[in-house]
Amino acid sequence: MSIRVTLIPGDGIGPEVVNAAVEVIEAAGCKVEWERAAAGASAVPTHGTPIPAETLQSIRRNKLALKGPLATPIGEGYRSANVALRKEFDLYANVRPARSFAGVETRYSGVDLVVIRENTQGLYSGVEHYIDDERTAAESISIITRKGSERIIEYAFNYVKQNKRRRLTLVHKANILKCTSGLFLETGRGLAAKHPDVEFKEMIVDNCAMQLVKNPNQFDVLVTTNLFGDILSDLTSGLIGGLGLTAGANIGKQAAIFEAVHGTAPDIAGKGVANPTAMILSAALMLRWLGDRHKDPSAAAAGDRIEAAVAEVLAAGGTLTPDIGGRASTAALGDAVASAL
Ligand code: ATP
Repeated sequence: MSIRVTLIPGDGIGPEVVNAAVEVIEAAGCKVEWERAAAGASAVPTHGTPIPAETLQSIRRNKLALKGPLATPIGEGYRSANVALRKEFDLYANVRPARSFAGVETRYSGVDLVVIRENTQGLYSGVEHYIDDERTAAESISIITRKGSERIIEYAFNYVKQNKRRRLTLVHKANILKCTSGLFLETGRGLAAKHPDVEFKEMIVDNCAMQLVKNPNQFDVLVTTNLFGDILSDLTSGLIGGLGLTAGANIGKQAAIFEAVHGTAPDIAGKGVANPTAMILSAALMLRWLGDRHKDPSAAAAGDRIEAAVAEVLAAGGTLTPDIGGRASTAALGDAVASAL
């Protein structure tokens, strides 16, 4: 297997955790040709923009990127670089699995759920403004389309089937947001009729937050709109031990970008203590996705082996980073996973 992937180290803890992920992919025997590309705040001094044209070209060519977190420089003219990349490549499906690990102490064991978040619409559409120069009031417009809802909910139904899961919970707030959330719910109900083999449930977002905290094991796959998905997936990563453990995939029809759910973690950047697990698991998701897309069982198997190695190292407990109760460095945890392979 030889593949070319755009590699974006990003900002803050990004370069540290991305290095660990690269080491692990190589230890898994995958022949990846990395095309390094700049983005985020660290790209501004060299390229004058957080999203350089070369980086966009590289992703366009390879249709695949592994990306560290990006800081959005504060100042006029810069929207979030993360959001801009998702929009540029129409990466409409954000998949964020949350699975408990033996060896990581949390309130619950056996959590195994996936949040699928619509990634391009809703309150992240970027349509917002102050209504006057004095900034006495502001408006944000949430845009939901039937087509956008259909493709993400259809993606979620197919995800349930392909991953041999059982139940899909659509999360909404249609009792209050009757048009936007209402349209999303109505679309979901319509699609549910076409997928009788998947158990379909619907849940109002505030109740869902409470239910997730009370009994997360009742959930399997959740699908929801952009903002709710962002919040709920941080909640679900808290259930399994925090942002240091939660991987993510941004999937579109033309390209896919794999990244950890966490941000740049400026409070620990450069200290060598960031947990690389989320980034390593994002790399594993990338290999599994490649396996499905290119019918390459060796890529899928490498992804599975990486996940198993992570689980083994976390369960052994000797090389945990501080966020999950240990004292090991980013590099030590990365090395341990590479050795376990
Ligand atoms: P950003 O604005 O880039 O999202 P943030 O600080 O608001 O940055 P995160 O970067 O996600 O949000 O960090 C939230 C908290 O989680 C911080 O205390 C951070 O140290 C911690 N954290 C995030 N990622 C990791 C990681 N990989 N390992 C250890 N701690 C982490």
